[in-house]
Amino acid sequence: MPVSVRPAIARLPAYRAGKAAPPGPNGVSYKLSSNENPHPPLPGVLEAATKAADDFNRYPDFGNTRLTEAVAEHLAMPAESLAFGTGAVGVLYHLLQALCGPGDEVIYAWRSFEAYPIAVEIAGARPVAVPLGPGAVHDLGAMAEAVTPATKVVLLCTPNNPTGPTIGHQELLDFVATVRDDVAIIIDEAYLHFVTDKLAARGLEILAEHPNVISLRTFSKAYGLAGLRVGFCVANPEIASAIRATALPFGVSALAQAAAVASLVAEPALLQRVEEIVGERERLIDELTDLGFDLPAAQGNFVWLPAGPRTQEWTELFTAAGLMVRPFAAGTPEDGLRISIGEPDANTLVAAVAATLPRDR
Ligand SMILES: *Cc1c(COP(=O)(O)O)cnc(C)c1O
Repeated sequence: MPVSVRPAIARLPAYRAGKAAPPGPNGVSYKLSSNENPHPPLPGVLEAATKAADDFNRYPDFGNTRLTEAVAEHLAMPAESLAFGTGAVGVLYHLLQALCGPGDEVIYAWRSFEAYPIAVEIAGARPVAVPLGPGAVHDLGAMAEAVTPATKVVLLCTPNNPTGPTIGHQELLDFVATVRDDVAIIIDEAYLHFVTDKLAARGLEILAEHPNVISLRTFSKAYGLAGLRVGFCVANPEIASAIRATALPFGVSALAQAAAVASLVAEPALLQRVEEIVGERERLIDELTDLGFDLPAAQGNFVWLPAGPRTQEWTELFTAAGLMVRPFAAGTPEDGLRISIGEPDANTLVAAVAATLPRDR
């Protein structure tokens, strides 16, 4: 008899490697499928990481000491409230492992970040997906109603990947006030730097008053360190300590720790890049809106093109033009494409291809 895999794991979708877009008609291709930062590392970051590489016969600092100090100072939060991991996804895995047991329910919106259902299943908990409301926003009313005595965690993604809208700050406060105190509310703020809506949720501000709220952050997006795998969460010290106890030992490499510290120092250059990406996002939104596309609010470094049954067809047309975009085709009317904001030339090409897409009028 073969060794059996846990049923929850056996049901997980197999990983499919993303294909590189073949060069378009003018010989170039752009990867706009993973919400990566198109910029090279911030000033000083490559130097710091390269220097750390001198010692990679050694394990990294187990306690992420310098990084913890730097982030604590940067966010003006106590060091005990921080826990790091191999990307925000690594931290999320540890969080769910630390909090959930069999039978516990984890509520999240759908569509949202694809890692959520997988992380919940791996932790042995039960995923509860609540459909997004009109405009592809979190339906917090429905999410509050989905809470049962078995609910252990609610995951909120703002701005929501892949659709783009934020949760309003007041809306978040009302939601937190409605939900039981013993339900953890994880606010995934991976795209926080790109948010320009002044009324959008600011997770960190409500942490002190609500010990069940956890803010999840990453160095992968605005800071452009996706390949080095470093993320963290800000939580009450008991939860942060539980995550540190659960975490893979030495998970965050010395290179990643050094690069993250150097990235925090390069704040002015970071803000300038973020502003550039946001400017490109607004330009693309304007151009797509002029073409007659009805887009949800885009507050991350990506736009969502509702494509419904044309999702696969449109993806192929973008691919043929040298643009690798991310299709979400589940065979539902909510299907669509997520397109990351890339280099200005890439964004210009996105609008040019969008103008040629076949549509029902
Ligand atoms: C990209 C992303 C993350 C960050 O993932 P890392 O593991 O830190 O690279 C977290 N949450 C959402 C919603 C994301 O899109």
